[in-house]
Amino acid sequence: LMQLFRPLDMLGWVYRTIRQGMIDMADMFRLLDKPVEVDDKPGAPALITRRPGVTFENVSFGYDKDRQILHGLSFEAPAGSTVALVGPSGAGKSTIGRLLFRFYDPWEGRICVDGQDIALVTQHSLRQQIGIVPQDTVLFNDTVRYNIAYGRDDPSDDQVRQAAEDASILPFIQELPKGFDTEVGERGLKLSGGEKQRVAIARTLLKDPPILLLDEATSALDSRTEQDIMSTLKRVSADRTTIAIAHRLSTIADADLINVMESGRIVEQGSHVELLRRDGLYAEMWNRQQNEDADPEEERDAAE
Ligand code: ATP
Repeated sequence: LMQLFRPLDMLGWVYRTIRQGMIDMADMFRLLDKPVEVDDKPGAPALITRRPGVTFENVSFGYDKDRQILHGLSFEAPAGSTVALVGPSGAGKSTIGRLLFRFYDPWEGRICVDGQDIALVTQHSLRQQIGIVPQDTVLFNDTVRYNIAYGRDDPSDDQVRQAAEDASILPFIQELPKGFDTEVGERGLKLSGGEKQRVAIARTLLKDPPILLLDEATSALDSRTEQDIMSTLKRVSADRTTIAIAHRLSTIADADLINVMESGRIVEQGSHVELLRRDGLYAEMWNRQQNEDADPEEERDAAE
């Protein structure tokens, strides 16, 4: 009988692996414009992680041969730390996320997770370790439960509930007419940007990855929602190695390390206080955003 079940078991595993891969791809949709498949090296081992830190060592990269985007980037995110990437649009922040998820290989240099070059381990084992909270979460036309559990290995109701609670969306769900069975998405209840992001956080919590990639939304949430989401993310990222792409500097001011990027280079690196003291690009961006916060009219004008 076991002989009969083993292939079925295998099929289940293959199905779950593909489904998991699909949700990761969907999560990456914003980070990813044009997927290029990289291959596993023959006989590549799985990534082995205990408490994984992430290092970029002299990484250079371009999507096309004749246009280099990243120029010799180096930074370290020790296990459990939060490292922020900030800088003007087009500086290369999302590209770093795509390289970490290994949608592309660097031209030069290497990216290591827990001391292992990610180009030498299987993509599957790498991607299992990374959770992504994207800018925009795509919801499926299905129930809240389905949307939180999507791509995960048949989590129990308790696990889904716990993830919702940890993502601070449980009270909202409990107030819905059908709770977790409420239909959402285009054809159901439309969720706000902040609520969708919380669903994404709950989804990521079910995956429970040691590394988090946060891609902050460019479209501003109202500041109260933003503050709420930030405090949720802070809690969620506390014990995980977190790479946070940020547009609003106030959201990453307490990161352990802030990389300020411009035209594919890290032009400043340090803590918030160190960077303010330096009075360079970061200080300029910070002062500008402070002024915009003091005068929201101006911010709206600038966003248009
Ligand atoms: P933003 O803050 O606007 O999201 P960013 O700092 O994340 O910007 P990236 O998305 O990393 O910037 O883009 C860096 C550069 O790479 C840009 O000049 C962009 O045009 C280019 N680029 C991004 N994706 C691709 C792609 N798939 N193919 C070719 N070039 C790309």
